[in-house]
Amino acid sequence: FATAPSQHPPCILLAEDNQANVNTFTEYLKAKGYAVLVARNGREAVDLAIQKQPNLILMDIQMPTMNGLDAIQEIRTVSHLAHTPIIAVTALAMRGDRERCLAAGANDYLSKPVSLKKLLETVQAHLLH
Ligand code: MN
Repeated sequence: FATAPSQHPPCILLAEDNQANVNTFTEYLKAKGYAVLVARNGREAVDLAIQKQPNLILMDIQMPTMNGLDAIQEIRTVSHLAHTPIIAVTALAMRGDRERCLAAGANDYLSKPVSLKKLLETVQAHLLH
């Protein structure tokens, strides 16, 4: 699978407060042909999701101001975002974490450290349906 060059590459909203992760994920996803929007906390993620209607959202869970779980729950109350794929990304990796993310409305879950290959596979899988 390769993303075809296009006037409208799929847009991914990356909600992440760690600058090193922002740099790594953004550079990688852009190299794979995606457009990337960055939010630094859950509040920004909700606002950007509403304004820009991304094709997919990568949501860090531990963020300042509003955490990822609260952001996911708020996004799911917005009718035009009800079916946008959301992949939760968490450093916690505790028992029950996955279930909490899915219960909040995430479609999938990745625990840090996230391999870029696994990230891409997960993004692609959720953009196909
Ligand atoms: Mn974080």
